[in-house]
Amino acid sequence: MICLRVLCVLCGFTLCCAALDRDAFTFTAYDLLVRIEPDSQALDARGKIRLRNDSLQPQRSLALQISSTLRWTSIRLEGKPVAYVTGPYTSDIDHTGAVSEAVVTLGRDVPPGAAVELELVYGGAIPVDASRLRRLGTPPEIAARTDWDRISRQFTAVRGIGYVAWYPVATTAANLSEPAEYAQILGTWKARHARSQMKLALQYTGAGETAAFSGACPAQPVSKPASCDWAPIGNTVPTFVVAPLVALSRPAIDVWHLAGHQDTAADYALAAERMLPLITAWFGPARAKVQLVELALPDAAPFESGPMLIGPLRPANAKSLEVMMAHQLAHAAFESPRLWIYEGLAHFAQALARERQDGRKAALAYLGRFVPALVETEEASSQQPAASALVSTHDEVLYRSKAMFVWWMLRDMVSDAGLQRALRAYQPAQDKEPAYFQRLLEAQARPALEWFFAEWVYRDRGLPQFRMEAAHPRARLGGGFLVTVTVENLGGAAAEVPVTVRTQSGDRASRLLVPAKAKASKRIEVPYTPVEARANDGSVPEADLGNNSIAIKMR
Ligand SMILES: [Zn+2]
Repeated sequence: MICLRVLCVLCGFTLCCAALDRDAFTFTAYDLLVRIEPDSQALDARGKIRLRNDSLQPQRSLALQISSTLRWTSIRLEGKPVAYVTGPYTSDIDHTGAVSEAVVTLGRDVPPGAAVELELVYGGAIPVDASRLRRLGTPPEIAARTDWDRISRQFTAVRGIGYVAWYPVATTAANLSEPAEYAQILGTWKARHARSQMKLALQYTGAGETAAFSGACPAQPVSKPASCDWAPIGNTVPTFVVAPLVALSRPAIDVWHLAGHQDTAADYALAAERMLPLITAWFGPARAKVQLVELALPDAAPFESGPMLIGPLRPANAKSLEVMMAHQLAHAAFESPRLWIYEGLAHFAQALARERQDGRKAALAYLGRFVPALVETEEASSQQPAASALVSTHDEVLYRSKAMFVWWMLRDMVSDAGLQRALRAYQPAQDKEPAYFQRLLEAQARPALEWFFAEWVYRDRGLPQFRMEAAHPRARLGGGFLVTVTVENLGGAAAEVPVTVRTQSGDRASRLLVPAKAKASKRIEVPYTPVEARANDGSVPEADLGNNSIAIKMR
């Protein structure tokens, strides 16, 4: 044993000199037995992991990172103890702001594409910890709302990478004070590991509790070990919750709530059921059940992972609950490896829910709430346009809010039926190149959409900025008027924008494609005296809607 320790230290010194590539290996499979002891907040884990060298170079060493409140006990390679050196490594992929890193000497070159299998034992405690947020100066009460992961007597809720490294991972240091870089590191990790598998057996020493998991596993009592297979991990973050939860089970949704909250739980379930026909019409039948898991922290920020939503069950009015449930129902129905599609469609579903409740105007007002943050993000991302193309971005504002607008604009451009046909034809496994969805949409709904995808999806051109330049009316011989409207787009992205001529009796709407940094005109026929022309009803995101209308003066 002493010899081995000496060897570890010696190997540690030699490793300092060899370059360690923390991103070289992809963790392709986990098979873990995790024991949770709520009284001591302890987590003890053992199991096997499989890693593949996805770099272009042979690798002689690899890094394994777990939360800094956990410690490595044993690492074995192909059945034999292996030399490794451990130490703290500052990284905000964990709530403590650091990880316990083991640098393992493989003893031979592992060529590109080759795999290694390691047997691991590690353990420690997972107390609530908001060190990484406190380091940024976040007020404690706000930090507590976000970093709520813990093992405790009251409840256990532990999210994976980005919150708690409860299973081994390895990334270069991610720093929350650099949000764009942080999102990039975490987003790249998740994308690389979407096809990886995780098998978890969860032992719990408390009694009478229920374990819920992200992914497709049903919640289950933990009187005997509970188990969950993430096969594959996909868009989820491997997460487990153990608490005295009671089920309210309906065909489309399970609400796991705490005792005494059955009325609120029923409100959530009913809201989901009311939205189900709309979501099915757009995104097809559900592939999984929505899992709503109550967290015993009334102020906690909710967390979503695929069709699962963890958070406090706050009573709310029926419309808000419907809008909230539309998001998770969309995730349960529609799968995609691309964030702008997966998350963008779920946010689009929320706007559709608002439209179903109170009409298009209400939906556009809902969309409008996301414009200020989007404008701010677009201004900042114009510095690094390569990272901010919608098709590959890890920036949440872009893949959520901008994508929501993109889906709404596509829907306006190709019709509901056209977009729904394309969504029905979508196969996540076939989505291997950026233009896959564009081609589906062109085949199912409307040809020649390259210009739109080029400016909104494949590259980041910022937002359009419309100005209504002129609206000239002319009386027609047979009655009515012809109004020639000219719209200028001062922004960097082309868009097909709704143009409306208001008359003394009703409006007449049309659509006009205005290229970036250019003008476009259209003649719109109206039966009554025109009063005003307006571009953009709010369905196309732009910073300033103040110069979009012009009064029409009859000579
Ligand atoms: Zn989502």
